[in-house]
Amino acid sequence: MAKKAKQINVDPRLCKGCHICISVCPHGVLEKAEVVDERGFFLPVVVDLEACRVCGLCEIHCPDFAISVQEE
Ligand code: SF4
Ligand code: SF4
Repeated sequence: MAKKAKQINVDPRLCKGCHICISVCPHGVLEKAEVVDERGFFLPVVVDLEACRVCGLCEIHCPDFAISVQEE
């Protein structure tokens, strides 16, 4: 059975809104937020948690170790 994610966390203190995680995700789980945070960054937001297969690509490619995926 395909793996499922329980939760995806983006640490707002570490993330700098580079969007690498969005571009490497093969399942369209993440998108750019519509509003900037207090530092002026568009953080990634989870738009389709169900689609996540816990492949880990977003975590591996994040240069700031800001995103973590918790398996169900
Ligand atoms: S673990 Fe994989 S499928 Fe899930 S959000 Fe990250 S890149 Fe996308
Ligand atoms: S790759 Fe990391 S730093 Fe870049 S937007 Fe995603 S979570 Fe933030």
